[in-house]
Amino acid sequence: MFERRLQEVRKYLETSGLDALLVSHLPHVRYLTGFSGSNGLSVITLRKQFFFTDKRYREQSKNEVDGFEITVTSDTLLKAARKRGVLNGRKKIGFECEYLSVSMFENLKKLFPSASFVAKRSVIETIAAVKEESEIETIKQAAAITDKVFKKALLVLEPGVRELEIAAEISYWHLRMGAEGDAFESIVASGPRGALPHGRATEKRIRKGEFVTLDFGCKYKGYNSDLTRTVAVGKPTERAKRIYRTVLEAQRKAIEAVRPGVPAQALDKVARNHIRQKGFGKYFSHSLGHGLGIEIHEPLRLSVKSKDVVKQGNVFTIEPGIYIQGFGGVRIEDDVVVRDSGCEVITHSPKELMIL
Ligand code: ZN
Ligand code: ZN
Repeated sequence: MFERRLQEVRKYLETSGLDALLVSHLPHVRYLTGFSGSNGLSVITLRKQFFFTDKRYREQSKNEVDGFEITVTSDTLLKAARKRGVLNGRKKIGFECEYLSVSMFENLKKLFPSASFVAKRSVIETIAAVKEESEIETIKQAAAITDKVFKKALLVLEPGVRELEIAAEISYWHLRMGAEGDAFESIVASGPRGALPHGRATEKRIRKGEFVTLDFGCKYKGYNSDLTRTVAVGKPTERAKRIYRTVLEAQRKAIEAVRPGVPAQALDKVARNHIRQKGFGKYFSHSLGHGLGIEIHEPLRLSVKSKDVVKQGNVFTIEPGIYIQGFGGVRIEDDVVVRDSGCEVITHSPKELMIL
C-alpha cells in the first residue's frame, strides 16, 4: 500500500476542510491504488479508502490493489459508490475538476443530492511531483529502455527511409524491451520539418544532408521517459553545426544550474540567455522543460513565467531547441532527477553531434 501518498491526501483533506476526495483520473487512480486497468475510481475519506472497478477487472484489481476496500460492479462506478454508501453523511467532497466530465458531474449531483462537490485542481499532481526513491528507480528503467531504443532507431536511420518507419521501429523496440508502449506519439522531424517543434512522423523520406530530430519515450510500470536527440544524416553545413553546438551548450548550462531551491524560471533563463547571446534568441520558441512521471507532462514548468521552485525529488526534462523556417531544427532533451546538491541526468544517449 502507498501509505505516504494516502497520508498526503488526508493532510490535504484536513487543510482544505473536505470530507473526501473523489479520484477519477486513471493515472492518479493508479498512483494511489496500483490499479493499471482502464476503468477505476477511488474515494479517499479521512479514515478509509475505497476502490471501484467493473467485472472485467475482478482478478486484476485483487492482484494490484492493496489496502483499499474493493468493489467490483456491473453497474456504473458512481452507482456502485452510492450503493456502497461511501459518501453517506459526507458533506464536502472534492473532485478533480480538470478530469471529471460534465456528464459525470451531472451524475454525481443526481446520485448524491445531499453532498456538495468542490472543484479542486492539482491535488494529486502536487503530491506526485516529489518522487519517492522507488519511483525514481522506475523512471530510470524507463529512461534506460529509451536509451537502448535510440540505438535501434539509429540502425535504420538513413537516406530514403520514411519518418514513419523510424517511428514504427521505436514503438516496436519499446514493446520488445519491456515497456507498456510509447509514452506519446513519436516525433520524427527531418530537414525543414525540424522547424516544427512537434512534428509527428510523416511519409516524408529522409534525405542526405538533413538534420533529423527524434523525440520519443516509453511508459514503463506507469512511469514515462522522454528523450530527444537530433542527428545529422550526411555532412552538415557550418551553420547547422553552430546551431547544434549552441543548443547543446545551452542544455548543459541549464543542467549544471539545477539544484533544490532554484526557481524553475531561472533554469529557463540560463538556456535562453545562452541561445540569445549566440544570436538565435527568437528561434527558441517553447519553454525549457516539464515535469515527468506518471504523466508525460506534469505541472512543474520550466518556463519564462513559471512560479515553480525546484525541489529535491522532482523529475523533469531539459530540452532547449532552435527552430528556423526553411532550415529545420535542433532539440536536445534529457530527463533529470533533482538531488540534494544538484541533479542526476538519467538519460544517457550521446549528445555530441552524430553524423550518420
Ligand atoms: Zn520529448
Ligand atoms: Zn519533453
